[in-house]
Amino acid sequence: MTTTSFTTTTKAQEYIALEDQHGAHNYHPLPVVLAEGRGCYVWDVDGKQYYDFLSAYSAVNQGHCHPRIISKMVEQSQKLTLTSRAFHNDQLGVYEKYVTDYFGFDKVLPMNTGAEAVETAIKICRKWGYEVKGIPENQARIIVCGKNFHGRTVTIISFSSDSGARDNFGPYTPGFESVPYGDVEAMRRAIGNDPATIAGVLVEPIQGEAGVFVPEDGYLAAVAEACKENNVLFIADEIQTGVARTGALLRICGDCTCTKTCERQPATYLRPDILILGKALSGGAYPVSAVLADNAVMDVIQPGQHGSTFGGNPVACAVAMEALQVVTDEQLILNARTLGTLFRAEMQKLVDAYPALLKLVRGKGLLNALVINDSPESDTAWNFCLALAEGGLLAKPTHGNIIRFAPPLVISEDQLLEACAIIGRVVKSMAEA
Ligand SMILES: *Cc1c(COP(=O)(O)O)cnc(C)c1O
Repeated sequence: MTTTSFTTTTKAQEYIALEDQHGAHNYHPLPVVLAEGRGCYVWDVDGKQYYDFLSAYSAVNQGHCHPRIISKMVEQSQKLTLTSRAFHNDQLGVYEKYVTDYFGFDKVLPMNTGAEAVETAIKICRKWGYEVKGIPENQARIIVCGKNFHGRTVTIISFSSDSGARDNFGPYTPGFESVPYGDVEAMRRAIGNDPATIAGVLVEPIQGEAGVFVPEDGYLAAVAEACKENNVLFIADEIQTGVARTGALLRICGDCTCTKTCERQPATYLRPDILILGKALSGGAYPVSAVLADNAVMDVIQPGQHGSTFGGNPVACAVAMEALQVVTDEQLILNARTLGTLFRAEMQKLVDAYPALLKLVRGKGLLNALVINDSPESDTAWNFCLALAEGGLLAKPTHGNIIRFAPPLVISEDQLLEACAIIGRVVKSMAEA
């Protein structure tokens, strides 16, 4: 070990032991046990304060326990929590109008988790393929990208290229074809190969889990165009990139800083045929996901063909409306953009000063990654994150040697600079050890 390692107190160890003994071992968390959160800070069971630079994988864009969101949640929870969709409720329609107006689509289908929303999009896309496009029975294909992350259900992991996510979970759902991410020609070839059976293309506008891979400018536009030319649905999974994270309302908005999805800049705003949202749609307060599309697509779904007991419940609706209104009122798009530029500039200084330890920084808005100059199998990034935790900042390696930095978008400039200083101190101590 080259650096101060993280000290886990006896108290924290007791909680960790409980999880270890009674919970399935499907995660490998850092040895920190959190008990409270507010804004861009969290506190562990011993009262130690940290900057949260993961934000629950970008679910907590509005900051931990945002008072307005929590207050709406409490208020609605005391009135009515669940009706199922067997009956109407007085929040659902209001929310559906709000969210479709906010993102500029005719209709929404409300679900709970991200994976469910992706599954929903796949079902809608296939049904559209058969009923509108006229694909012969059971022949619909959807093109996806290598190194994708769209969730954990059997169908979704069927088209994952991550062996850990996929191995020994077969037999896999057929009907998906993978092409390398960011490769326009490969995408065009895949679509051009029997376009009559291709129902859709599913992409992440930036691949977050894969390590914050930002495609070249023009990639998404070219994919959207190829879809349009071949009557194929362009499906954007913005579960991690959406809701202001990358310095635009949606990543597909490009450089447009409008607070609502707009058509003022048609050159930069690529409108997907199906938009998938989750995570920060609720500000991390509650599981809320959504699939948005226009009538021509969404109307293929009729009563009894899809649903969820909790999807569109009154608490979810009230929470999501408030969470989106907070994004607008607190100008989180602008903050993510401005502070993202500052963050990358600060990290670039470190990359320039310590090239033996750091390879590069990349990202958009406040979705960024620092790539460690070591193999993915090394424990350098893990030790780096332990040292960051010791210094008061939480982040987690992805794919071995990549560290994602994604603080809540409510972070201030002073707080961001303080966080950068913590990272700088750790870099220095590791590089010079
Ligand atoms: C997190 C994520 C999902 C899955 O969301 P869950 O709520 O964990 O099911 C899907 N797609 C992307 C891009 C994500 O980041």
